[in-house]
Amino acid sequence: MRTQVGIIGAGPAGLLLSHLLHLRGIDSVVLESRTREQIESTIRAGVLEQGTMDLLSEAGVGARMKAEGALHHGFELAFEGKRRRIDLTDLTGHSITVYAQHEVIKDLVAARMEAGGQLLFSVSDTSIHGIETATPSIRFQHDGQACELQCDFVIGCDGSQGVSRASIPAALRKDYERVYPFGWFGILCEGPPSSDELIYARHERGFALVSTRSANVQRMYFQCDPKESVANWSDDRIWAELHARVDSADGQKVVDGKIFQKNIVGMRSFVSTTMQHGRLFLAGDAAHIVPPTGAKGLNLAVADVRVLTAALQAFYVENRLDLLDGYSATALKRIWRAEHFSYWMTRMMHRLDDASPFEQQLQVAELEHVTTSRAAATAMAENYVGVAAV
Ligand SMILES: Cc1cc2nc3c(=O)[nH]c(=O)nc-3n(C[C@H](O)[C@H](O)[C@H](O)COP(=O)(O)OP(=O)(O)OC[C@H]3O[C@@H](n4cnc5c(N)ncnc54)[C@H](O)[C@@H]3O)c2cc1C
Repeated sequence: MRTQVGIIGAGPAGLLLSHLLHLRGIDSVVLESRTREQIESTIRAGVLEQGTMDLLSEAGVGARMKAEGALHHGFELAFEGKRRRIDLTDLTGHSITVYAQHEVIKDLVAARMEAGGQLLFSVSDTSIHGIETATPSIRFQHDGQACELQCDFVIGCDGSQGVSRASIPAALRKDYERVYPFGWFGILCEGPPSSDELIYARHERGFALVSTRSANVQRMYFQCDPKESVANWSDDRIWAELHARVDSADGQKVVDGKIFQKNIVGMRSFVSTTMQHGRLFLAGDAAHIVPPTGAKGLNLAVADVRVLTAALQAFYVENRLDLLDGYSATALKRIWRAEHFSYWMTRMMHRLDDASPFEQQLQVAELEHVTTSRAAATAMAENYVGVAAV
């Protein structure tokens, strides 16, 4: 098998890259270890920045997102028994859309299939070869057969547990990591929304996030011990915890629903540099992870793809190498901005068990500041919608 660009991973990064390259006349093959049903049903991100929406629309996959996604012009910060609103549109001229990641995946898979794109599911034993030559290849098993995909470039879009990152020699890589001593307990429930907008709550019992998926399905999280077991949490205990953390003194309450999914996710910040070596380039979670507090992971994956698409187009259309050579440095500017924002939001909103009473008061002082100073609120809003300077 031969193609121009071999892509490992059919997450948002791999699928979007493949489709944008197709629109520019560049061939690719996407190799995915899971089934189509699995990738289309994994519940993850839900907040799309304006730039992400624009790129999905440009790729011709924005119609359902526009029709079914919910445009949000702000969000609320709850602390000390009150709620204060961050008006994103007033502060930045931009908004965000709440549209689930697995719906983005469905739209992208459908677009690739309709365009006759090569997307191989259930591959295994993926390995990368010859990245220091002009003829790299990917070896894998598919349908019980050993296969080899020869290509000009290998793009690792295989998430945090993939094989691509480790294919860059360890001596050339530097990893930066912060693991947080807490996780998020997430639920999906059937019921009406508690609020028109997302609510980020800081409480002495811990952080909570009230978000929405649709008019009938709601997504909520609360800070927990990462080693906590889902089995310890009955529905009644979950609702009691969310009410304790989010309900405000003026009577605004979380609306209970019928819980149909519970899970616990760990929290970490991670950046691996360099994001390229020879003919191998990394994009998305393969190179970096953010805690979900800032809603940046999917958006960063899409931002990498934007930079990489332009660089590959410059190579194939204009025979230029400069954009490819500068890919990692260009992408990392935005990545570090988002890493800082996600870390900052996480530190400000969560119960930090190692924090002294003095430091806990600083969290409250910071929340007072971002909700009363227009300059501070604007900085927060610019980061949230993804237009902060990089
Ligand atoms: C609970 C939760 C909430 C989140 N909320 C948000 C949010 O609100 N906003 C936001 O922007 N982000 C959020 N994120 C982060 C976001 O989901 C990820 O950043 C995003 O999925 C990254 O996309 P990706 O394409 O880089 O990687 P992935 O989505 O991880 O895709 C990688 C793909 O590669 C495949 N793969 C792995 N190894 C191989 C292999 N060896 N061979 C072939 N295929 C392989 C995997 O099966 C997978 O399908 C959240 C994440 C979680 C867990």
